[in-house]
Amino acid sequence: MSDPMNVLAPEHRRLRIGDAWRDAAGGATFAVEDPATGRTIAEVADAGVVDGLAALDAASKAMAEWAATPPRKRSELLTATYRALTERSEEVARLITLEMGKPLAEARGEVAYGAEFFRWFAEEAVRVEGRYNTAPAGGYRILTVPRPVGPCVFVTPWNFPLAMGARKIAPALAAGCTTITKPAAQTPLTMLFLARIMEEAGVPPGVVNVVTTTRAGEVVSALLADRRTRKLSFTGSTEVGRVLLRQAADNVLRTSMELGGNAALIVCADADLDVALDGAMVAKMRNLGESCIAANRIYVEEPVREEFTARFAKRMGALSVGHGLDDGVDVGALIDEASVTKIDELVADAVDRGARVLVGGERPDGSGHFYPPTVLVDVPDDARMLEAEIFGPVAPIISFTSDDEVIAKANDTEHGLAGYVFTRDLQRALRFAERLETGMLGINRGLISDPSAPFGGVKQSGIGKEGSHEGILEYLDVTYAAIDLP
Ligand code: NAP
Repeated sequence: MSDPMNVLAPEHRRLRIGDAWRDAAGGATFAVEDPATGRTIAEVADAGVVDGLAALDAASKAMAEWAATPPRKRSELLTATYRALTERSEEVARLITLEMGKPLAEARGEVAYGAEFFRWFAEEAVRVEGRYNTAPAGGYRILTVPRPVGPCVFVTPWNFPLAMGARKIAPALAAGCTTITKPAAQTPLTMLFLARIMEEAGVPPGVVNVVTTTRAGEVVSALLADRRTRKLSFTGSTEVGRVLLRQAADNVLRTSMELGGNAALIVCADADLDVALDGAMVAKMRNLGESCIAANRIYVEEPVREEFTARFAKRMGALSVGHGLDDGVDVGALIDEASVTKIDELVADAVDRGARVLVGGERPDGSGHFYPPTVLVDVPDDARMLEAEIFGPVAPIISFTSDDEVIAKANDTEHGLAGYVFTRDLQRALRFAERLETGMLGINRGLISDPSAPFGGVKQSGIGKEGSHEGILEYLDVTYAAIDLP
């Protein structure tokens, strides 16, 4: 099999600014590693503030023409991007696996998911509408005119190197905005490849700019302080989100914040256990558990606790761990050493407080950032992993005896991104839906991400929605005109 890096030529491992692929101003570069081996797979340009501002120049210059481009034309360019990603799915997937560590099957899933944002927003681009109505008191008319907000700054995480950028870039372009994306330093290659694909698809220069850097703080704060920037969309940790919200406040920027989660997955005694097990496996293990909507806490009602736990542990124990590009691997490498250490400490903390390990629980020797699928039971409420994002293949199981009890526990967190409920009782499910403090809820389903659905959290999990019709509204301002008409 050929080297996955072949798809991204050396000249495209540089900054994408305007119509150029260029080195960072000082010529600096940084190394990107394969997390499964620690091997350096590429050097990419390491932008400084001056490069970030050059990208903003390009995005600002391209703004008026892009906003005036007919929606149908913008839509066609998004469709062309969707097609190119779909046709080149295998190449993109292998690149994602190489730089991020997830197994190839997961990476293929991410490409399909990411590509769908381009298809969905190609369809939305031509359906942006205003209103015209008579003022209630009569005498004049009210006209609303949606307009693109302006140049947008995007900051994305490493866990979905394609999809987290796609779900910002696609709606922004559909709305008529230009963009600057700063991908995570650990996974910059996929975003550069996307920029290349969009260039080939015919997206005009300056509309999609990509700035790779190890100096995120400096570069992003300079962009946010510049009055030409009109919007920040961030996906990442709540901690960094708070910092960026403060910076965005100085320039009164529109913001979309997709932050951390602490999803509770609740299995009721009346659930179809086969469905609940399938759902729990997906909700826990999709993307190796390195997902903001991963089931972080699994609550099982006492009468089915034993059976569910035994069957879940068996399935977790049967998963194979290895390099994501190898055949038959279910669980690839975690992103870095810090992640493995954090997970190891969370497991040790739970065990110290009385939890029992049923499966896994010990990091393997050798190179690469691996951690085995792990199931813990008797996890006490004060275990740190019930509040921290585990972000890995570790599943704590906790039993419950009443809906009031489990809802109180599920809501006892600063986060409010996703939740999951398994029950055959419709009324019970709806009561959970009304009482759980989350932006998203899977009912008898472990997979909830869908470009046609509004993705986003409440509480400290974020502000705003991505995907769905709501997704494009994040990139539109509304000007209202009062028209005198007695
Ligand atoms: P992170 O540490 O917050 O980093 C996210 C991005 O922010 C990266 O591009 C990072 O750059 C950049 N960054 C870090 N510090 C910054 C600063 N001071 N100023 C400007 N940019 C800064 O998060 P992560 O570890 O990459 O991703 C995992 C987190 O993302 C989890 O909390 C997860 O729940 C969350 N997430 C949320 C969603 C959602 O939709 N709600 C989806 C996916 C992930 P560097 O790479 O250079 O550090």
